[in-house]
Amino acid sequence: LKAILLSPDLNVVASAEVKFDSDLPEFRTTGGASAGPNKFEFFVQPVMWVKAMDIVLDRLVMQEADLSTVAAISGSAQQHGSLYWSKHGISALHSLDPDKFLHAQIDDSAFVVNRTPIWMDASTHKQCFEMETAIGGQTEMVQMTGSKCYARFTGPQIRKIYQQRTHAYEDAQRISLVSSFLASLFLGDVAAIDYADGSGMNLLDIRNKTWSKACLNACAPDLDERLGAPVDGFAVLGNVCDYFVQRFCFPPTCKVVACTGDNPSALAGMLVANNWLSVSLGTSDTLMMSLEEPPKLEEGHVLCHPTETHKYMGLLCFRNGSLVREAINKLEANGSWETFNELLDSTPRGNFGNMALHFREMEIIPKAKGTLRWNKEMQPSSPDAAKGVLKFSSPQIEIRALIEGQMLHHRAIAEDMGFHFGSETKILATGGASVNQSILQIIADVFNAPVYKQVTKL
Ligand code: ADP
Repeated sequence: LKAILLSPDLNVVASAEVKFDSDLPEFRTTGGASAGPNKFEFFVQPVMWVKAMDIVLDRLVMQEADLSTVAAISGSAQQHGSLYWSKHGISALHSLDPDKFLHAQIDDSAFVVNRTPIWMDASTHKQCFEMETAIGGQTEMVQMTGSKCYARFTGPQIRKIYQQRTHAYEDAQRISLVSSFLASLFLGDVAAIDYADGSGMNLLDIRNKTWSKACLNACAPDLDERLGAPVDGFAVLGNVCDYFVQRFCFPPTCKVVACTGDNPSALAGMLVANNWLSVSLGTSDTLMMSLEEPPKLEEGHVLCHPTETHKYMGLLCFRNGSLVREAINKLEANGSWETFNELLDSTPRGNFGNMALHFREMEIIPKAKGTLRWNKEMQPSSPDAAKGVLKFSSPQIEIRALIEGQMLHHRAIAEDMGFHFGSETKILATGGASVNQSILQIIADVFNAPVYKQVTKL
């Protein structure tokens, strides 16, 4: 959990951090999460997050951060996780005593589920199937909510709780996402879920920005009253509650703005206009974009835009990113990025008509696995094109074919999603491989647009 105090011109004035695994060892997490008893189950004890909040604010104050100057507060949290408030928890939230730690008041009894499912939990394939079937199929689910049913998404997770722990579900007065839970602590009341994070639940009608009755019915009974009405990601929910005024000297007029999920926050935090395409070159390659209309693409995710009322956010994740680049680097350049780049730079754009697609792992879009290499003699419609060539003549050609192929693939799917490439297009590159100038050059060539790197002001 990180807390950052920003000046009006967005410079970092102070920051503090709590590492769940080492600062809160009593919760025995690895990477901030615990594996559940069954396959694909992952959970967090919500009190860990509450305790982290106590600590992170204390640490911020120890940095001599003057919290009495804070005009507004908001937050970003992992998408998809859900918390189930008990009646007692909500009344404790309404009457926080500034003389006591938060975690002494929002303790286990504040929740009806103490092993709360988080984004990593992928144990709900059965519920996904049931929900999609109930509303008429996968296409309907995509049309309505922007994504097909995913096991990590909150709707299927809620359904699993309803099915397996019916009494707990019945006792849950309200359900929060991790982001709206964070806002709830500051507000001293259960905070509304925002449209963008709400789009990661398979429950929100992303066009009308209301909970879809069909999806709610397919999920669990009396769910709309447990979720409350969703709001804009920039909605002011109210003033910070007295607890934070008394204990940390926030001004009583400090506004609490709806919190949202990590992906929408990443797009919002880039502070870029709609002609920008964000390309994150991490373990996977991820593309983020603003869209005028939700596309008709079954794969990928479409969310309500976190900062623009009538726009949408497109999110594409490709599994075969850095890990494939690393593997080819190892094979052709002894694992040295320097050699890799020398080889890459020694071939011209277009690679003499040689191109490859490497889906070493089953790719997400398209669902395909394997490697295909083509040279310029290959006719796309010929039976040979389905087999390709076995290998290229040199490491130089191999390496350029890999990177150009990856970027052509990314560009093609981004266009399918509805992103329009044109003279105004700009690319923002982030993630581990964005340090690699030669790869960035290929992105600029293939996307036919200038590429920028994000600079973090610290
Ligand atoms: P994540 O946040 O997804 O864990 P990062 O954004 O930290 O990943 O990126 C890690 C990846 O960056 C590694 O898989 C590594 O292959 C890649 N990487 C690091 N340096 C370079 C480089 N100079 N050229 C290309 N790729 C690089």
